[in-house]
Amino acid sequence: MSFTFDNSFARELPGFYVKWQPEQVPEPRLLYLNHGLAEELRLDPRQHDAATFAAMLSGNRFPEGAEPIAQVYAGHQFGHFSPQLGDGRALLLGEVIDRHGQRRDIAFKGSGPTPIARGGDGKAAVGPMLREVLIGEAMHALGIPTTRALAVVTTGESVHREKILPGATLTRVAVSHIRVGSFEYHAARGDRERVRQLADYAIARHDPGLTGTKGCYLDFLCAVMERQAALVAQWMGVGFIHGVMNTDNMSIAGETIDYGPCAFMEAYDPETVFSSIDKLGRYAYQHQPGIALWNLARLAESLLPLLADDAEEAVALATDVIAGFHGSYRRHWLGVLRTKMGLNGRVGSDDDDIALAEEWLALLQNGNADFTLAWRYLAHAADGNPAPLRSLFADHRALDAWLPKWQARCAAEDACTTTDESRSAATARAQSMRRVNPWLIPRNHCVEEALSAASDENDLGPFEQLLAALGTPYDENVEFARYAPPAPASFTAAYCTFCGT
Ligand code: AMP
Ligand code: MG
Repeated sequence: MSFTFDNSFARELPGFYVKWQPEQVPEPRLLYLNHGLAEELRLDPRQHDAATFAAMLSGNRFPEGAEPIAQVYAGHQFGHFSPQLGDGRALLLGEVIDRHGQRRDIAFKGSGPTPIARGGDGKAAVGPMLREVLIGEAMHALGIPTTRALAVVTTGESVHREKILPGATLTRVAVSHIRVGSFEYHAARGDRERVRQLADYAIARHDPGLTGTKGCYLDFLCAVMERQAALVAQWMGVGFIHGVMNTDNMSIAGETIDYGPCAFMEAYDPETVFSSIDKLGRYAYQHQPGIALWNLARLAESLLPLLADDAEEAVALATDVIAGFHGSYRRHWLGVLRTKMGLNGRVGSDDDDIALAEEWLALLQNGNADFTLAWRYLAHAADGNPAPLRSLFADHRALDAWLPKWQARCAAEDACTTTDESRSAATARAQSMRRVNPWLIPRNHCVEEALSAASDENDLGPFEQLLAALGTPYDENVEFARYAPPAPASFTAAYCTFCGT
């Protein structure tokens, strides 16, 4: 097997990376191979045995055509600027054009320290890499743009964290690894020419329609903003908390990237934070849209010299774009909320529908209801079975006051839609709601259980079963029923996730 590489970044942007080789590992063993993704990348997983894959996807035997490089980038971490981060333990092997004609980066994570590692060991542990597989594949199955894991290989080495852990290399596939921090790196050095080169490259790759147009850099900023607004609205719709929305973890391509301390919310509480280091709740669930905006402002600042020759004019142009984020996010969020409520938005004002959704969210919060199940059971209520939804609440008064308002709103929409009978409208609504309100999310206790079995006991069974379940999150498959309920509240209250693992 091999990839058919076409390494445009390495070819077109010399000076934006360091050429580097992955470290050889003593005993590579394939833990996980994503067959579906392999096929998308035009690899035939049946062509080789696990040992060949393990050698290749650990860096021991190099795939032909790979040109491994460590990319440079900077980043604002928790609001503070680090002028040099970069791939400390990652390497971009190259790019391939997938079966859909989409260019994808193939990168290693945990393949040894690079010259920009700044003292880190450059390694990764099995648990966090399998975590990236589980959450990334769950996000993909939920229909949310994300980087994906192609493979995880154990290295036969130990890595030293709070305890000694088995080491692993992850192969990550991304539409690209260009981040807000990639622009900040060159902007902070006052290198206008490199900012322009990177912007031209990113435009050609992600927004080719803008290539060479007048105002293309401003339009590029708009395009990145739209992708981020859409992405974060989707996160919010499934209760996803990224946990470390630093500017170096924000992809220009609009994919979710860097699954470190991320986790899914259980009972609805907008202030939910799981990350051990996020003491002030900067990256709490409810702050995510505002942080996306803050990060976009950092991108805008980096692009300023390209926007206009006159500095004041450049600031005015960028400010205008950034000011549009609220409207853009609100539009995407309203779209998410409407589909989750089973509404098509053809009748009813935006403000009324936002108010209806906010009232619903408030009652979830006051009732301490599980976010995922509440939405899912609302779909059941749409075709005449409100019992599961009611069972989530000890006190039904707020729900009983809200349901008739929602039903009236649905009825108003149905009155304008030609259907054969009212029963079919209800069924159609419930079905469409079940396609957007998942039954399964990666519940934190299930994820931890699967990872500790894999990491501590070398038992991949729970990981494989959970991964299979998360592949069809919108189906109520009885075989996977154990993954649907939330963890005991005591587990969630004490649950803590970690960075830099
Ligand atoms: P992350 O928290 O994974 O987004 O990483 C933030 C920065 O720290 C990036 O520049 C990483 O390359 C670097 N980094 C994280 N872990 C390690 C490690 N074990 N060795 C070297 N660099 C690391
Ligand atoms: Mg990162």
